Amino acid sequence: MKIICVGRNYAAHARELNNAVEENPVIFLKPETALIPARQPFFIPSFSSDVHYETELVVRISKVGKNINEKFAHRYYDAVSLGIDFTARDLQSALKAKGLPWELAKGFDGSAPVGRFIPLDETGKTVQDLRFRMEINGELKQEGHTADMVFPVDRIVSFVSSFFTLKIGDLIFTGTPAGVGPVKAGDQLMAFLEGEKVLSLKIK
Ligand code: MG
Repeated sequence: MKIICVGRNYAAHARELNNAVEENPVIFLKPETALIPARQPFFIPSFSSDVHYETELVVRISKVGKNINEKFAHRYYDAVSLGIDFTARDLQSALKAKGLPWELAKGFDGSAPVGRFIPLDETGKTVQDLRFRMEINGELKQEGHTADMVFPVDRIVSFVSSFFTLKIGDLIFTGTPAGVGPVKAGDQLMAFLEGEKVLSLKIK
């Protein structure tokens, strides 16, 4: 399986990092080893002293597809959750300054914890009408609504599938709203999708 991520998909977050919003989604990948097994903590890697959380809606692919028309894209995913796109911001900034790829700052082990999936039809909502939030140690850090995405999920699925064949179980991280920030050892992250807790993660 692969983990496909979208960058700069909420205008307010693009602004907070001084990034332009592009004409097409900004796409990068994380390896399968970026996932964290259930109930395991996230270990801050030794190569970074500024690891940031980015709370994102995660969409699970349920059908193989290539060159998917945006109109039919909704048939290719069936469940949603929240994930954290952990980013070694110091390393990413150094790589960006040199015009180099981001993978080391974004795809390291444990950089993509994902919560419990909820079948989309159980939410009673469309994928572009979902509210989510993330708290650290009980304090609200990020709040998002999927209606604020620059590129809606169906557009992302269609765009990505013209480059990569989507396979069952692939995950798409759809970008983070504003409010990203650092984590430190001892923090407890909790993420809520439509008010339901789907992710709980200890930082070590
Ligand atoms: Mg992100």
